[in-house]
Amino acid sequence: MRYAIISDIHSNLEALDVVRLEIERIKPDVVICLGDIVGYGASPNECVEMVMEIADVCIAGNHDWGVIGKTDLSYFNRYAREAALWTIRNIQPSARQYLEGLDLAHSMKGHLRFVHATPGDPDSWNYIFTTADVIRESRRFDEKICFVGHSHVPCIIEIQKDQKITVLYGSSEIKEDCRYIVNVGSVGQPRDGDPRACLCIYEGDRVRIERFEYDKELARKKIIEAGLPSILGDRLLWGE
Ligand code: ZN
Repeated sequence: MRYAIISDIHSNLEALDVVRLEIERIKPDVVICLGDIVGYGASPNECVEMVMEIADVCIAGNHDWGVIGKTDLSYFNRYAREAALWTIRNIQPSARQYLEGLDLAHSMKGHLRFVHATPGDPDSWNYIFTTADVIRESRRFDEKICFVGHSHVPCIIEIQKDQKITVLYGSSEIKEDCRYIVNVGSVGQPRDGDPRACLCIYEGDRVRIERFEYDKELARKKIIEAGLPSILGDRLLWGE
């Protein structure tokens, strides 16, 4: 089975379109979206439509929930809140309805779990940054691999039986006697210093995160023309 996993598109149609072309080329058996389809960028409706088309499973992120009123925007930072309010004004009923139907977590074949933020408390929107976060969260799901997004920083966290933790980048073997938390990174707003869009492929005993160039300037221009905070366009160029 070949799985393609995407996350954190953030209304960036230019980035999503490039990732979609790659998905069409490699023809995975299953496509999963880990949420945050909207927020930050200028193309929320087009992105929801494309995700509806390509994803077999999609779960909700905090920005999706913010736009449909299920998460309080007061906890968003200033730019995230401004973008959420802009999205609320510009989202079409059909896209909104799709976001309203998304669940917070999904399990597949007994060994794969998919969430936006953390497996333990998916609607608290916590982050997995520290070793303590990894240990805590690894006890809160039973499956072998949990795929997450949310931080926009792609990495593969390997957890051995004795709880020794190794963080890997790019690609890794999936070992028989280890468990994993895989952050698939962000399609539409990477924050690891590499501005290219992320696509995670899991197949057999390997997981890898591929990167793709896209028209960042166009995505930035649309953000500025839409009247969204210009920093949201600028940061696409830096990948931060
Ligand atoms: Zn996000």
